[in-house]
Amino acid sequence: MIRSLFIVLALMGFLLLDLWSVRAAETNFDRQREQMIDRQLHARGIKDARVLSAMQTVPRHRFVPEALSAMAYADTPLPIGHDQTISQPYIVALMSEVLAVKPGERILEIGTGSGYQAAILAEMGAVVFTIEIVRPLADQAKINLQTQGYESVRIKIGDGYLGWPEAAPFDAIIVTCAPEKIPQPLQAQLAEGGRMVIPVGEKSHQRLMLLTKQKGKIQAQKIVDVRFVPMVDERGKRY
Ligand code: SAH
Repeated sequence: MIRSLFIVLALMGFLLLDLWSVRAAETNFDRQREQMIDRQLHARGIKDARVLSAMQTVPRHRFVPEALSAMAYADTPLPIGHDQTISQPYIVALMSEVLAVKPGERILEIGTGSGYQAAILAEMGAVVFTIEIVRPLADQAKINLQTQGYESVRIKIGDGYLGWPEAAPFDAIIVTCAPEKIPQPLQAQLAEGGRMVIPVGEKSHQRLMLLTKQKGKIQAQKIVDVRFVPMVDERGKRY
């Protein structure tokens, strides 16, 4: 009798210890996230309060492979499998800021990857549609987004070059893989007054461009030099 009581008490002790260490780890991630905002975003000129608040809220460590969670808030892109990467936090923030997302706007993302960028946009109040060409990445992104409460994000498996005509037009389009030229279907699916942020150029480096559609015409503005994974078709050929 006393022995089983002892065992039960010991088990409860272990359980509490375990809960405590999970809590401590989460607090540690919260602190890392604050430092990321301060040192990587604020310090480099990200000012949009809604971008900063979304980056503070979304747990980036839940969108990277578990073995890399300790690196989740580092100032770098990270591998997510299938030769693909989750973008560096600064680039996610910059693209979100440049896009000037307003709550309720319909946004199309090309290149779901981990689902992290989609979560940031959803956290900012956007209605998010996202397309991923690699099925296992799309499946994992769906799990990541659902687990973190972003069930409203719609994910399609397929070639994002073609856009999502049934859901067009979009107030904004964010492209997180790089084609050599701006895909015509995406330009066509942009609403009047809409914005598109897209890396364009060669395989090894590209220019991040902001396009705006005014009276049916596209105006382009260069933001910064970047390096994204290439946009490819279903046979793996580069666009
Ligand atoms: N936005 C992602 C990072 C994307 S990495 C995140 O937050 O994690 C770029 C992604 O674009 C990769 O997952 C790659 O598989 C995908 N991709 C490449 N070509 C594509 C295409 N034609 N259509 C849709 N996705 C594509």
